[in-house]
Amino acid sequence: MSEASTTEPTADDLFGPDNLPYGVYTTPDAPERPRIGVRLGDRVLDAGAAAGLLNLLEAPDAGLLTAPSLDPLLAAGRPAWSRVRAALRTAVTDPDRLARVTEAGLLLPLSGVTMRLPFTVADYVDFYSSEHHATNVGRLFRPDGEPLTPNWKHLPIGYHGRAGTVVVSGTPVVRPGGQRRPPGAEEPVFGPSTRLDIEAEVGFVVGTPSRLGEAVPMDGFRDHVFGLCLLNDWSARDVQAWEYVPLGPFLGKSFATSVAAWITPLEALEEARTAPPERTHPLLPYLDDTAPGARDDGPGHGYDLRITVRLNGEIIAEPPFSAMYWTAAQQLAHLTVNGASLRTGDLYASGTVSGPEPHQLGCLLELTRNGRDPITGGFGKRTFLEDGDEVTLTAWAPGPGGGRIGLGEVTGRIEPAG
Ligand code: MN
Repeated sequence: MSEASTTEPTADDLFGPDNLPYGVYTTPDAPERPRIGVRLGDRVLDAGAAAGLLNLLEAPDAGLLTAPSLDPLLAAGRPAWSRVRAALRTAVTDPDRLARVTEAGLLLPLSGVTMRLPFTVADYVDFYSSEHHATNVGRLFRPDGEPLTPNWKHLPIGYHGRAGTVVVSGTPVVRPGGQRRPPGAEEPVFGPSTRLDIEAEVGFVVGTPSRLGEAVPMDGFRDHVFGLCLLNDWSARDVQAWEYVPLGPFLGKSFATSVAAWITPLEALEEARTAPPERTHPLLPYLDDTAPGARDDGPGHGYDLRITVRLNGEIIAEPPFSAMYWTAAQQLAHLTVNGASLRTGDLYASGTVSGPEPHQLGCLLELTRNGRDPITGGFGKRTFLEDGDEVTLTAWAPGPGGGRIGLGEVTGRIEPAG
């Protein structure tokens, strides 16, 4: 598969006034002065300066867009998120205001700025919530057993990852070294990973914190989660396979996790909300999104996000996020049900997004059946990633009036082991 099935939409189609994702950037003349930007087409609006020029925000919101990161905005809570977004929307939809910010030089070409990690990542958690992915992986690793573990349909499985190695899109990824046990060998060896992989995922960014000891129910999702972004959970499969029993992923994943430079507010994705797949097992009350009242505020907590995975510019997969079994609201409820508190900047990822079809698989482990069936393209033949390979995730979601909401891309190139 090498051609997209439809005409490529433009940046203006994907990043119009109904989208307005937030990022943080610097310019070459002020590399030490990060500023909050809002993306419009292939330009970035200097949000703090625009708010000042147009007198968009009053107390208590006034300082939220002049900070060097999104942290204060994330912490400000849902009513403030709505006010700030509505104010920024007027700046880009009202012709007079748009003319003023344009004349003031506050709309910069994206190509002329450097994007930064937009918020301070507090804790990082990664889930495992695609039934298709978990089933495929189960069949590869436990061919004689049940593909899903007995707990899989009862709780969203996850692990705590490494927040300090979350990097912004474009950051090179150095091939990690580690222990692996070659097939048939008795003893492990040390060296650069030979089975470096991607995981196409969606990350959710927590804004409003919670108190230690208090669980956040599913219907608290929109009050606590600010937005989402594409995320690539780079994975050294050889290291992972040797180390993961019995405590789960560790060094096979902690070397780097890439996130998009743009955080899309949940408010921009109302049209993309969708019901998750049918529940085939009864759920405990704190996770039961089929109970009366559980979907009073909309169709459900699934999101219809169409993800595209490119290897060196060529499409290798198109995973559908709508197929995810566990929703972000259930993941949030589960990760706090023991009283663990949320902090502003907590990031939790969906797990590899895979759909039921062969071209909908979100990692090379599945696409190549653990290296048995290489994929081919203009890049040649691949089982796992080679040095110099570049992987890019993009996505779009249905928006108002039949339009599209683009998610900021996440890209990274593999550099040789140091
Ligand atoms: Mn993952």
